[in-house]
Amino acid sequence: MIARNIQVVKEKIIQACNKVSRVDNFPILIAVSKTKPIEMLQEAYDAGCRDFGENKVQELIDKYDKMPKDIKWHMIGHLQTNKVKYIVDKVALIHSVDSLKLAMEISKEAVKKNVTVDVLIEVNVAGEETKFGVKPEDTEELVRKIAVLQGIHVKGLMTIAPYVENQEENRQYFAKLRQLSVDIRDKNIDNVYMDVLSMGMTGDYQVAIEEGATYVRVGTGLFGERQYIV
Ligand SMILES: *Cc1c(COP(=O)(O)O)cnc(C)c1O
Repeated sequence: MIARNIQVVKEKIIQACNKVSRVDNFPILIAVSKTKPIEMLQEAYDAGCRDFGENKVQELIDKYDKMPKDIKWHMIGHLQTNKVKYIVDKVALIHSVDSLKLAMEISKEAVKKNVTVDVLIEVNVAGEETKFGVKPEDTEELVRKIAVLQGIHVKGLMTIAPYVENQEENRQYFAKLRQLSVDIRDKNIDNVYMDVLSMGMTGDYQVAIEEGATYVRVGTGLFGERQYIV
């Protein structure tokens, strides 16, 4: 079932690339496995997935220990500074940096463990009050401040678009994030790359790819609906 879902999503990714004649920088599918059991992750792994996304530190560490070591783990959820130390040497990319305080903690722990941590700046492009992320107009300033820290590299930007019925409604936000990354890249800030755009989820990844996403984060579309136990 999961293998079939992966195949379907990958076909849609190719379709989206073809629609805009995109030939290079093929988007990478992150299997968002939060709340899902190891057996399902293993199924996705066996079907070829090597990028997994989690939003809770404890869950990420548990799964990191149990799953094969060639997986790239993506921290996509809000990260508390006191938990940074548990994941800096385990994750390939932290998508959710939205404050200097968090970046400084990542830098401190990275230096301690002698690693370099790649991060994205989470931008609240749609200005939703319920969402984390910096405002578009504050992004460059934050990037500049993080750029001088040791052990941390800003690789690009991430956004979580609003939940919508019709993904076309989110095109404006994806386009805005891409433009913001281009604007910042044009400033040629030392130690800042801006070649990663993490945007698009189950409901809107095709439009996100058309607008330049390099990572799409798909959960429900691969593993089915999530059940949250409260
Ligand atoms: C849960 C989550 C996703 C995946 O959402 P789906 O709609 O299930 O694809 C993507 N990104 C983030 C940051 C998430 O928390």
